[in-house]
Amino acid sequence: CGIVGYVGPRSAQDTVIDGLRRLEYRGYDSAGVAVVSDGRLLVEKRAGKLANLEKVLDDAPLPTAHTGIGHTRWATHGPPNDVNAHPHTGGARRVALVHNGIIENFVELRERIEADDHVLLSDTDTEIVAHLVELQVQSGVDLTTAMQRVCQQLDGAFTLVAVDSEEPDKVVAARCNSPLVVGLGEGENFLGSDVAAFIEFTREALELGQDQIVVITREGVEVMDFWGRPADAKQFHVDWDLSA
Ligand code: GLU
Repeated sequence: CGIVGYVGPRSAQDTVIDGLRRLEYRGYDSAGVAVVSDGRLLVEKRAGKLANLEKVLDDAPLPTAHTGIGHTRWATHGPPNDVNAHPHTGGARRVALVHNGIIENFVELRERIEADDHVLLSDTDTEIVAHLVELQVQSGVDLTTAMQRVCQQLDGAFTLVAVDSEEPDKVVAARCNSPLVVGLGEGENFLGSDVAAFIEFTREALELGQDQIVVITREGVEVMDFWGRPADAKQFHVDWDLSA
């Protein structure tokens, strides 16, 4: 439902939670965050209001991190509970991924994954995608190539945002029939399912086109299609007022 991504000097946990709060108006049933700290992936997620997640994080904050992703879920596959909340990880917990939308061919993909001895923990269509992306990076390609290869196999409507603990300085996202915008900062960059996720921090934005992938680092933003060919996204300035 709501998606946030961040790379930069700020606290990833705080920036992602701020973004999720700005997206609360969309409605949701669960919330979660993943950060990469010191080459480790840390995930915290809870059913219910963002306040439930914030309470857990207040009691036990995630370690300092500068790369993170977050999600507020509106369940389509599986009930709203802690396990089905996003982010989802691959079996080795190297990749974490959040998803808006529906993967139409997930039953077929799930059979393929399970035939390969992967154990899925949730009822979601999303967890399969996390496993597929992780399988790709474990085969030796980078997260960007992994996302391209997986998107080529997916049918449906999706915005996906992923981090890989072995590439701690980037967040990779993709969009197909579901919105995704990039917030352009100075020495930091943001992702959101809409600009509310980051207008507190920047008003310069890029709107991803259909079937595009974007890679954000502190220094820059790179846009391509699902086959890795360079692509253009539309830049715009957000000039409406923040009234929350
Ligand atoms: N289909 C996914 C799920 O049920 C994502 C739902 C959403 O867009 O929040 O977990």
